[in-house]
Amino acid sequence: MAARRVKVGGAEFGGDSPVLVAGPCSVENWDMILEVALSVKASGASLLRGGTWKPRTSPYSFQGLGDEGLVMLREAGRQAGLPVVSEVLSVQQLERAADRLDMIQVGARNMHNFVLLTEVGRCGKPVMLKRGFMATVEEWLLAAEYIMKEGNEAVVLCERGIRTFETWTRSTLDISAVPLARQSSALPVIVDPCHAAGRRDIIMALTMASLGAGADGVMIEVHPDPDRALSDGGQSLNLDEFKALSGAVRSYGWPPERYR
Ligand code: PEP
Ligand code: MN
Repeated sequence: MAARRVKVGGAEFGGDSPVLVAGPCSVENWDMILEVALSVKASGASLLRGGTWKPRTSPYSFQGLGDEGLVMLREAGRQAGLPVVSEVLSVQQLERAADRLDMIQVGARNMHNFVLLTEVGRCGKPVMLKRGFMATVEEWLLAAEYIMKEGNEAVVLCERGIRTFETWTRSTLDISAVPLARQSSALPVIVDPCHAAGRRDIIMALTMASLGAGADGVMIEVHPDPDRALSDGGQSLNLDEFKALSGAVRSYGWPPERYR
């Protein structure tokens, strides 16, 4: 199927090189988001991520900084020269965030939220659609259709692992989903190895496997001091580890033959 390119500022998904999306799980404060933004930019990232409305399993866990975090994310992106992506959990949040974000993220837990998908399809911004952890590849592609049906074709699919019986990882990275989604749709497909693994020691291996399978990029959680992170520290790389990963991606890139 003909490949579609999705441009978000200077980042081009489905273009000539793998896209690196990087940033903290959550925007925690101004100093940390600025530090991460400047560092990942210097290391080769082309899009800054950072959650400000967090879909946490426990309502007692850190829920994110909300609007205040969005302002910080946008300004950090501006100072670093990076476009920004963040997740919205509801239509109300989409209305508050759309003007401040370069790309809207729909998270795994909301992949089946058809009302949100429809509104995201009308918002005029590029969308990163994460695969639900209980969703088949077909359901994921149909969720993307909900967005595109409203006239928004700038959709990037993100595989982030599915629920299986395995307990040594948080989810199981479904590597087959990468070539399957790329064969069955024109949309770029990226991988989030951090939420799939839930542990930082295999992020590099999963990144290279993803590119080997043809992924158009990866999204990596990066924190200046992962052990002190307010969310997902165990699966976050520190600044130096991200620099090393970025270098490896640049050296190895894609295999000579990519399947579409
Ligand atoms: C995230 O990327 O911030 C996130 C919450 O991931 P997921 O929706 O894949 O769990
Ligand atoms: Mn996270």
